[in-house]
Parts: sequence; structure tokens; C-alpha cells
Amino acid sequence: MTLATTADHRAIAAGLSFEGRVFIAGRFVAAAGGEMMETVNPATGEAFASVASGQAKDIDRAVAAARTAFRDGAWSRSAPERRKAVLLKLADLIRANAAELAVLESLDSGKPIRDCVKEISIEVPDTLQWYAELIDKSFGKVAPTGEDALALITREPIGVVGVILPWNFPLLMAAWKLGPALASGCSVVVKPAEQTSLSALKLAELAAEAGLPDGVLNIVPGLGETAGRALGLHPDVDAISFTGSTEVGRLFLRYAADSNLKTIGLEMGGKSPFIILDDADLTPELIEHAVTAAFWNGGQNCSANMRQIVARSRQEEFLSLVTERARALVVGDPLDPATDLGPMVTAEHRARVLDFIEMGTGDGARCVLPADPALATRPGSFLGPTVFAELSPGMTITREEIFGPVLGVLPVDGPEQALTIANDSAYGLHATVFTRDIDRALFMARRLACGTVAINGFTEGDIKTPFGGYRQSGSLARDKGTEAMAQYLQTKTSWINLKSPAIG
Ligand code: NAD
Repeated sequence: MTLATTADHRAIAAGLSFEGRVFIAGRFVAAAGGEMMETVNPATGEAFASVASGQAKDIDRAVAAARTAFRDGAWSRSAPERRKAVLLKLADLIRANAAELAVLESLDSGKPIRDCVKEISIEVPDTLQWYAELIDKSFGKVAPTGEDALALITREPIGVVGVILPWNFPLLMAAWKLGPALASGCSVVVKPAEQTSLSALKLAELAAEAGLPDGVLNIVPGLGETAGRALGLHPDVDAISFTGSTEVGRLFLRYAADSNLKTIGLEMGGKSPFIILDDADLTPELIEHAVTAAFWNGGQNCSANMRQIVARSRQEEFLSLVTERARALVVGDPLDPATDLGPMVTAEHRARVLDFIEMGTGDGARCVLPADPALATRPGSFLGPTVFAELSPGMTITREEIFGPVLGVLPVDGPEQALTIANDSAYGLHATVFTRDIDRALFMARRLACGTVAINGFTEGDIKTPFGGYRQSGSLARDKGTEAMAQYLQTKTSWINLKSPAIG
């Protein structure tokens, strides 16, 4: 899809209509209590749509619809070819509606339109297509036995899945979960983040158009403490797939323990390192990766490489190059294709990030690029990039997830110290290493305690590779790749005793 101009995006925005009701059993309906939440455009600070604030009663209705659909089997027991065809059609419908969906998501979240277009015209439909194509290529197993038995190992959909989403990649995170959940035959109840429900509701409409049977996909927007909690505690939900903060992920383990011991898949926060060893060339490409790793999506990214661990001998050169590049980032209107950084998702979130920045200065970190103060006077919740030097491992801004446009440099003396500092974290989601030496690169990759290691380039991999965290960044669950299917399938053994037939 070619990128349109700001004026084109504004024209699309002006023509959008916003569906704010809950989607249950194949229809948009008013939420049971009639309560609504305002959806604010973070670029202007103004409310532009109202969305239902789902309550426990709405979750009950959605789970009941999902259970009925699962039992009926129109999806859960349908032929693989049928599920594949529907998901492929959904992928095509998303491609056909990508411009509207991208503008919708940009208005709702403040994400730069360039990122929304890439995610929604390519990554979201490609994710659904990848899982659609996996459906009729997934086989069970036959265990080795003697001739007196046949042992089949098959996998079956787990049942009703609750999907809890964050606001930073609304439709992409939905696709990472819905792709494998629907491919496996499960029925789903989605609780989008309260800040960004609109694209998930539009997705429901497209799923119905693609032929997904009623009740297989239900969307209940609402607050975490009401709709999210009700889904987590629901006795008829078989599994939860959660992406969000570690703090809230912990609650879902409690909800499971306090209800029906549903399985819980957790994708949570991070504090990821970006390591530059002394043999790395500080090329413009490396600097681009460093800046992207810290500032992509305004740093509102679980795998943001905020801790940049740099060989002491290269620190000053790196700081000057990275600061120069960060200063050139365009902070502005998310609907402008030239924008690199939109606003923070809410004014409250910006205030939280600013508190962290103040703590960094208070703890003695040297601020080499302060956030542009002019942005504070502009409507919306804009915040420019900040770069700190001389972070130390014990500082709060080195340890806690900031989730904002802040890059901090920690100088180190050699790969061993880089590893010690990199692994000194409660989290373990992602790491990047730059070195020209393949032995050093693989040594670092083996020793880094995290789910994804990127060598000589910041990347989270692609749809074929699993994504998830060690330690408090995640459970054993993974999104993406064939590994994601494990969240939505359970394994069954069928052991058949055989007798030798009397032949002849
Ligand atoms: P959050 O934890 O505040 O919210 C996530 C979801 O949980 C939302 O839908 C919210 O409504 C719900 N929720 C909040 N409180 C709840 C409660 N008491 N009971 C039940 N549900 C509740 O996270 P966020 O601010 O939306 O997203 C940012 C976080 O997500 C960051 O920590 C980030 O690292 C993480 N994240 C992780 C990944 C990953 O793949 N590991 C990807 C994206 C974001």
C-alpha cells in the first residue's frame, strides 16, 4: 500500500464512523448496564467517540455465546479447509480495509500512521494468513508401540479463550492471538485495552463478513478492573492469553487460582538491553537501530531496548551520534507520514514517564538530550526523546519499565560485564548485541536470559519465530510461530488395544 498524505488521512478520518457497542454472538448490541467510556485522541486531548464499558454481565453473555458456538461445533469441529478459507478471507478483508483501519488506530492510540499502515496492511493480515495456512498442514503423531496397540497423540482446541489486549499495538496483538486461537478451533472473548477498543470492534465486523460463525469471536470493551477481571475470574473460560504489564499479569494468575484453574498465557513487560561491544562499527545503520530500539512507538513497546550497554571506549562517540539522530526525530501529528513519534497514549501516561525522567536526573544520571519543553504547551500528550548517559545498574530508571521515549547509556568494560548488567533484571524479553565477531555474538546469545536475541540489528523476528519472555516478562506461553498454538490446544492420547486377527 502506498503511503497517502496527511490530507488524505484527515479525509479518511472525517469519513469514519465509530462502532462502540459490544459484539456478542455475531451482533453489535448495547452493553447490559448502558455505561460508556470516552475515547480520547491523544494527539488533541479531545474525546471523539464513545465505547461501551462492558460489565461482568456482558462478559457472562459473551462467554455463554462462545461456549454455545464451541459446543455446536460449526467452527470447533469444522473441516480444516473451512477454517482456512474463512481466515484467508478475513486477511483479505483487512487488506482491503487497511487504510481506514490504520487511520482509526492512529486516532485512537496516537501511533504514527506510518507504523499503523505497515502493521495493518501487512503484518496483521499476514499473521492471520500464516495461521490459516498452517491449519491443513498440522498433523498428530503415532507413538511407537508393539503390534498389540495403536497409540494416537492428537491435539484438540482448549475451548473458550479469553484474550486480554494492551493499547500499544492494538490490532497486531489481537492478530497474534486470534490467528492461532481461531486456527485451532477455539471460541474467543476479546477484552481490548480501554484506551484503544475501536479497531478490535471493526475487526469483529470483518470477521462476520468473512463467514466466522456467530459466537466464535466476541468483543467486550471495558475497564480492566471490571470487564478484564470478570473474564479472568469466569468459571467457564478455559484459557486466558494476556498481553500487558507484569503487575496485571500477576492478577490473572490469582484470578485462575480463585476460579477454575484456567490456563494462563502471559506476555508482559520488559527492560531490554542493547549491547555494543568494543569491536562494533558505529555505522549510521547501527545508530538507526539503537534509536529505533529505544524510540519506536514512542518507547511504548514491550521490547524497547532502553538500556544501551556500551563498551566504555566507545561511549562518547556513541552518545554524540545517537543524540544527534534522536534530536532529528520528527515528533508531531500522527496522521502525517513524516512523523516518527506521536503522543504518549494518554496524558496520565506522559506524566508517569516524566516522573521517571525526573527520577533519573535526581539519581545522578547525566541528561544529554532533555525532552523538548515546547511540546508540553501543545494540545495532546506529546513527549520528545530523552537521552541519559552514565546510568548505573541500581537506578530506578535502569530497573523499571518506563514505556516512554527514554534511552539510557551504561558504560561497561568488556563482554562479561555487559552480560552481568544485561541479565541483572527482573525481566527477560529481548536483547540486541552488536559485534563483528561471530564467536562473541553466539556466546552472548547463549548467555542472555531472554526470549529473543537480535544480533547486529534490532528486530523481534517475524511471524515464523516465537515471541515471549523469560522471568517476569512472560510465562512459557509464546505468541507467533507454531509455538503459539500450544496456548490454544490440549494434547490427547488415544490408546487402542489390538488383537491379532485370525487370517487364513
Ligand atoms: P496493562 O497491564 O495496564 O493492561 C493490559 C490489559 O489488562 C488491558 O486490557 C487492561 O484493561 C487489562 N487490565 C488492567 N487492569 C486489570 C485488572 N485489574 N484485571 C484484569 N484486567 C486488567 O498494560 P498496558 O498499559 O495496556 O500495556 C503496556 C504493557 O504491556 C507494558 O508492560 C508492555 O511491556 C506490555 N506488553 C507486552 C508485550 C509482549 O509481547 N510481551 C507486548 C505489548 C505490550
